[in-house]
Amino acid sequence: MTATLTDDLLDIYNALFAAFGHQHWWPAKTPFETMVGAILAQNVSWTNAAQAVANLDGAGMLDPHVLSAADTPDIARLIVPSRFYNRKAERIREFAGVYVTEFQADPAVMTAVETGALRERLLALRGFGKETVDTILLYACTKPVFVVDAYTRRAFSRYGLLPQKASYDRMQRLFSDNLDPDVELFNDYHAQIVHLGKTVCRKSPLCDRCPVRAVRGTLACAGARA
Ligand code: SF4
Repeated sequence: MTATLTDDLLDIYNALFAAFGHQHWWPAKTPFETMVGAILAQNVSWTNAAQAVANLDGAGMLDPHVLSAADTPDIARLIVPSRFYNRKAERIREFAGVYVTEFQADPAVMTAVETGALRERLLALRGFGKETVDTILLYACTKPVFVVDAYTRRAFSRYGLLPQKASYDRMQRLFSDNLDPDVELFNDYHAQIVHLGKTVCRKSPLCDRCPVRAVRGTLACAGARA
């Protein structure tokens, strides 16, 4: 029987899970912390973003009402580790204001909004790109939206399942068109891809230790043959 794209994607996930174990994303105590973390993680490592989240928490500012009423410089000085801190402070303050006024600072209210409409609303906010918005939809609102990123492009283009310059939408369709909308699967699959990209499928890939190298018994990956 010929393997389908769905089979391949599930086999890749299962190989990643078997090698790395469940990734337990998103590392946050509340949905709002996840939302703020998604903004802080833009263009920076999670280690730096996590330090900024911890600073906000330590100052008692990881609260939508507090952040929406705060002065931008007061936010900025706490999130310096996340880089681009002035811009991110403004974005966080603006988002916190929307979260309070439009969603009553209640993740259940936000999650009750139809996924497409909520995605459009968040994409309309300044500084909110698709990766940030989809991260919030999946990890804070538990919507079945697959998050993709540069790690996804690198590994899956090497694997031959995406063009090298695949757009965000093209990458996302690979997963959303071929997998059932499963929040648990989408949650851990994206986390596994990030772990793969950080540890194995790096700029110079470590193919000899890659768990997806021989999925379906073939050396399907272009990187593996290189
Ligand atoms: S076999 Fe190599 S190039 Fe392919 S996904 Fe693994 S690390 Fe990346």
